[in-house]
Amino acid sequence: MEGKDNKITRREALKGLFYAGMGLAVGGPVLQACGGRGPSEAPAALPVTEAPEGSKIDTRNWSKLGETVGMLGLGCMRFPTLDGKEAGDGNLDQEAVNEMIDYAIAHGINYFDTAPLYGQSEEVTGRALSRHPRESYFIATKMSHMGGRRFSLEDGKRMFETSLERLRTDYIDFYLLHSVPTVAEFNGRYVENKLFEYILEQREKGRIRHLGFSYHGTNADLPQMLDLYDWDFVQIQANYVDWKDMPVDWDPNQGPTSAEVLYKCLADRGVPAVVMEPVKGGSLANVSDALAAVMRERHPELTPAANALTFVGSLPGVMVTLSGMSNMAQLKENVSLFTDFKPFNDKDMAFMETVAELYKSNVHIPCTACAYCMPCPNGVNIPGNFRVFNSASDALSIPDPEHKDKTYNAKRKAFLKLYNGLEKGATADACTNCNACLPKCPQHIRIPQQLMRIKELVASL
Ligand code: SF4
Ligand code: SF4
Repeated sequence: MEGKDNKITRREALKGLFYAGMGLAVGGPVLQACGGRGPSEAPAALPVTEAPEGSKIDTRNWSKLGETVGMLGLGCMRFPTLDGKEAGDGNLDQEAVNEMIDYAIAHGINYFDTAPLYGQSEEVTGRALSRHPRESYFIATKMSHMGGRRFSLEDGKRMFETSLERLRTDYIDFYLLHSVPTVAEFNGRYVENKLFEYILEQREKGRIRHLGFSYHGTNADLPQMLDLYDWDFVQIQANYVDWKDMPVDWDPNQGPTSAEVLYKCLADRGVPAVVMEPVKGGSLANVSDALAAVMRERHPELTPAANALTFVGSLPGVMVTLSGMSNMAQLKENVSLFTDFKPFNDKDMAFMETVAELYKSNVHIPCTACAYCMPCPNGVNIPGNFRVFNSASDALSIPDPEHKDKTYNAKRKAFLKLYNGLEKGATADACTNCNACLPKCPQHIRIPQQLMRIKELVASL
């Protein structure tokens, strides 16, 4: 990856991280990090870039589907809340959601992705969208019953009908089987109970227009899933960090997974890809100052989040890049990026792979904050604990009690402040290792072990 065309070499990039590790600034102030999930010492924000009045995001035509789809889609799982806390207990802010959806539609976003598993999302999204002509947007929702008990046919019918009702529509444009990892799982969830037959009937009736599935499985299992049926589209996780391989904490029983292999498998078969987690649950918007400086050297006009979104948007087989935006500032920034979109060239794409290596050189728990593992029966805020750990790791400020150098006390204080900022009873030490959360995590994180690691770290401080 080193070369004069890339402006900054891998060695220089690593040097940047080294200085950051010593607490020294690299470059100037870091560009805006949208997502608000990062360390408390978040860099100063630049003014939000806004697309010109009347402009619309770029679109791509998909002849296989007979649809024209905006390149950016609105992921409806991280909507703003009334109390500023994480979504739950009916606290989504309908007015703010209405405003976001109005802005999105006005600027050409026509793909809205939700699921029964996203709490109030279907209801709030349906209320906001139903204020617009039905033909002006596509609804994507899912048959969400992974990780828990098997559904009966009646359970599945009820979920589908409830989705229609909540979304205030009589058809779904893009219907997904939610997170199906293997053919065996597909058979267990959809074939033995005849639920797939029912779904195909709904398709025949026009109540489902396009049928696909979302996927968090291995490279090896995807072709088998594709052989099962002539799927209209498939949703995969892709971002520059997961491109070559998904990092760190995969279930040891899992085979390798690489977003590149999954993407190419779909592209080779002409199956449009919907991409989720392009910013990896917000973590690629909140990278360390040093890593942001490395990216800024190459593209001063792009924030870390914009680099991540541009990487995915540059892949021609991607029908829509979903971003779970949670406020107007993020939406405006992303709409601006996809309006007159400027794709990365091959050298940019290769450069981002080097950035991924640097990112992975930090210890990181690959949690995307999807909350599928929640609620924990013992009250642990699982994604919250991982966010604390990753924030400290991204800032290179995990305190190391074995090596108490001059930065130790400051790191210890900062880490404990974040950790103790979690709700009472929700910290890692409340985990009883019951394993109830394990099968629910699409990232295959060994949740109890990772919580134990955090608990031991805190006990040692
Ligand atoms: S293993 Fe721990 S975090 Fe997971 S459900 Fe059980 S108590 Fe909660
Ligand atoms: S631990 Fe897994 S299931 Fe839970 S929020 Fe993180 S990625 Fe999602």
